[in-house]
Formats: sequence, structure tokens, C-alpha cells
Amino acid sequence: MNENILFQSFVLFFMMASGLTGLIMKRGITRIVGGPWNYVAGSRCEPSDSTGLMKVNEPATGGELCQVAVSGPGEVNRAVKAAKESFSVWSKMSNRERGRRLLKASNIIRENLKDIAQLEGGREGTKDYDIRCDVICRTNNQCSFPFIALAILRQHVPLEGGSFAMVQREPLGVIGGVGAWNFPMQTCVWKVAPALACGNTFVYKPSQFTPVTAVTLAEVLTAAEVPDGVFNVIQGEGQTGADLCNHPDVAKLSFTGSVPTGIKVMTAGAQGIKNVTLELGGKSPIIIFEDANLKNAVKATLMANFLSQGQVCSNGTRVFIHRSIAKEFVDQLVEQTKKMVIGDPFNEETTVGATIHEEHAHKVLGYVQSAKDEGATILCGGERVILPGKLAGGWYLSPCVLTNCRDDMKVVKEEVFGSVLSVLEFDSEEEAVKRANDTNFGLAGAVFTKDIQRGHRVANSIEAGTTWINTFNLYPTEVPFGGYKHSGVGRENGTAAIDAFTQTRTVYVEMGDVDCGPLYQE
Ligand code: NAD
Repeated sequence: MNENILFQSFVLFFMMASGLTGLIMKRGITRIVGGPWNYVAGSRCEPSDSTGLMKVNEPATGGELCQVAVSGPGEVNRAVKAAKESFSVWSKMSNRERGRRLLKASNIIRENLKDIAQLEGGREGTKDYDIRCDVICRTNNQCSFPFIALAILRQHVPLEGGSFAMVQREPLGVIGGVGAWNFPMQTCVWKVAPALACGNTFVYKPSQFTPVTAVTLAEVLTAAEVPDGVFNVIQGEGQTGADLCNHPDVAKLSFTGSVPTGIKVMTAGAQGIKNVTLELGGKSPIIIFEDANLKNAVKATLMANFLSQGQVCSNGTRVFIHRSIAKEFVDQLVEQTKKMVIGDPFNEETTVGATIHEEHAHKVLGYVQSAKDEGATILCGGERVILPGKLAGGWYLSPCVLTNCRDDMKVVKEEVFGSVLSVLEFDSEEEAVKRANDTNFGLAGAVFTKDIQRGHRVANSIEAGTTWINTFNLYPTEVPFGGYKHSGVGRENGTAAIDAFTQTRTVYVEMGDVDCGPLYQE
């Protein structure tokens, strides 16, 4: 019996034993349609102490997807304990061995790409193309970090008299991760892959709105021979996240979400003297000069605003366009926006799926109304579209282009996190850069121009953790990502992730005698 069949048999047995129903993907990863939704010490489980049930909305239909038990402090403690116990095994494994298992996990994800994408699509209301980007990004990440694990080298520092010091990279211990609801797979893997590669163990609390797929990652890791307890998932809302962040045995907090919650997580970190990484919101600028390749600028603006219903942290929602080409640009942008296909996230031709839930849709529509009230012009979109049949209960919003915008409007200043873009005209480079930086956010930004000097000059003047020249929203996992100002603290990805998930220990070796001066008299 080969490994694949053996594992599938195991999963079938597991499913029969637990009474679950579901499909089996390649290598035995289950597409289970029922709970339990926690994953602690190597298996799915109900929380040992639950404080209630969360009803999870299915965005595409507006119906109920499932009910998930909320983990109380006892369950948080159980998961942290499992992670702490497995730390002694996982952290002692060689980097090469950890890398081998993580690489195996990334291969399993790759083999199951379509199934995982569908699993996500149904959950998040997001269309297939975006989800595949999410899962591919996740796979790339999982692929990169096994190799990065091999690059975690120690330093030998020669000192006076033949003495020397060794600077060693050590894991931090148990990492507590808390995620936002958009791109739930990517958010989770950007944290988990490097943390595990560096020898840490992990307890992850996904968003209460997209709780399901972190469990798939847990199954993938188990299938890839990552020991039980190295990666654990606990479900819940804000209180469960807070219990995890405040747990004394959690060494580091890695958070993705809004600025107000980020402040709470940082406060919890301060109280426990914990290392904290925060990936927070954004209000990124795109500056398009008169010499830009207009077609590329339009394509990037669509991608920077309407991918995944605009629910992307780095989105370029403030579109600064040189006054001389504003009309031509806006005409092309609106023509393309109107061609977008609002529909079932599972249909190949769909380009606009459902908003995450009704409350968020009202928030987005509220921003459109405020823009109207403050004098902006709606060129297209900004309305709910009711689809027929089972999709009638979903909150589908038409992508919105606003002109006649001013920098002081609410829609221009605040993060909307929906498909609403504001066109802002400018006359000079200096003016565009100044206005682009007039915000507390600093996650990303872009410049479009054929002038290479100007491209570099502006990209280096935008106050943001990532700036793109002539493109947008690319996140190769080889390079760091994170925010300036209120958009965050620390970086994910690239070799920066090694700094984020390790600490150094310096071992000094004395090759001579101890010199304590006159303190010691012969
Ligand atoms: P949110 O802040 O409402 O919630 C994020 C997570 O924090 C959820 O899992 C929630 O249950 C948990 N939480 C709530 N209170 C908590 C507490 N006191 N302690 C610990 N955890 C707590 O954010 P959201 O609405 O889920 O996500 C949208 C936001 O995330 C947007 O602002 C978006 O820009 C941001 N985001 C940033 C990035 C990035 O990489 N910078 C990526 C994705 C999303």
C-alpha cells in the first residue's frame, strides 16, 4: 500500500469514527462539511470549554454556513499547552528536517489547489480567480520558507586574544496568531510557514467570519508529518483572541486586522513584554503621471481596487491622476468597471463576488452615501445588486468609481475595505507626493510613469512599507511586507520573517584567563 492510499484510509477511518461526512482530496486532506472546527494536538476537536456558538455566514447566499463553538480560556490554555509541549521536539529538529516536512506540506497544497480554492470560495464569497491567487501565494510562501530555514545561520565573531562569540538564532517559543477575515489562507500561512521554519510552534485564531480553512492547513501539516501540537487552531471572537494574546506562555503575537484591534493586541503584548508584529489597515495612493502607459495604469487601478470586492488591506483607493489625462483615464476606467461580472463566486466568468456579510456591506454603502453627501460624483456602481435564486440573500455590491473628490472627504480619508475608489486630480509631482503622504496609514503605494528617475524618486518619497513602480498588489514572498505609521509594526515575508520569529543568543567563549583587574589580589 503506498503512502497516499495509506493516508486516505486513515482519514476515511477517522471520518467514519467521528461520524463526519466530506470529500477527500489528494493525500487525504478532507473537505469536511461539518465540525468540529478546533484543531489541537494533532486532531479536530470540540473546545474543552465553550462559551457559546458562533453562526458563520455564507457570503455567497447570505445563509448560514455552519455553527462554530467558541473557545473559552480553558481551551486556549489547552492549545497553548500542546504547542508548548511540542516545542521541545520541533525546535530541536534540524532546520533541514523541518524544511523537508514544510516542503511536503506545500506540495500537498499544490496538489489540492483547486479543491482548496473551492473550499475557500464557498466560505469567503470571493471569486475563484482571487482565491487561487490567495492559495498560490500561500503555497509559494510555504515553499519559500523551508529553504529560508536552511539559511538560518549562526555567526562566529572573532574577538581579542583568540576568544570568540557565537551569535545563535533561536526560536521564540509558542506564537499566538490572530487573523483577519480577508484572504484567510494567506494571512494564516504568512505567519505559520516562517514561524514553523524557524522552530516555533503555533496557536492560531482565525477570524470568526472565515474560521474554516485554517483547519485545512492543520490537516495538511499533519499529513506532512509535522508533529502533533506544533500547529493548533482555536475558534472564537475577540475574547478568544484576547485570551490567547494575554496567555503567559505565548512568547510572541502576530496579528493581522484593523488598527483599533491592533492597539489592543499591542497593549496585551506590552503587558506581557511580548514581541509583536502587526499587519494593519491601509489607504494607499496610486500616482499616475501624464506619461504613464494608460492601459497598464487602468489595469492596475482595477486590480488595486476591485480584486476580492475591494477587501484588500493594501488597496490603492486614492487614485491621484495628472489633470491633463484625467478624462481619458476615467473614461477607460469606467468602461472597464462596467464590464465586470457580478455573480456566483464559483463561476469562472465572475469578477465580483459577495461582500463578506450584510453589516460590512452597509458600512461600504455608508461610505458611498457620505461621498455623495460631501459632493463627490458617482460615475458607476456603489449599489447592492440582488442576484436570482439562492444567491438573492448575498450582499453583492457594484464596483464604484467616484470623481470630484477632495482629500478631506470621509471616503478619501478612511479605510473603506470595499470596492469604492476615489479619483483625485493633481498638477505637479510635489503636490501629488505631499497629498499622498497626508494620512496616518502607510501600508503601500504606487507610481505610474515612463520616466525612470521620477519613478524611483516618487517610489522613495511615498511613506509606505511597499511601493510599486508601474504595477500594484504584488507580494512575492521573497521580499518583506508590512506598514509604516499606523499600518503596522514589523514585517512579514522575506528574510525579515526570520528576524520576526527568532531571537539571538550570544555565547561568549573565553580562551584566556578571567581579567577582573584589581578586584582580585594574588
Ligand atoms: P478586526 O480587527 O476586526 O479583527 C481581526 C481579528 O482580531 C479577528 O480574528 C478578531 O476576532 C480578533 N480580535 C478582536 N478583538 C480582539 C482582541 N481584543 N484581542 C485579540 N484579537 C481580537 O479586523 P477584520 O475586520 O477582521 O479585518 C479587516 C482589517 O484587517 C482591515 O483593516 C484590513 O486592512 C486589515 N488587514 C491588514 C492586512 C495587512 O497585511 N496589513 C491584511 C489583511 C487585513
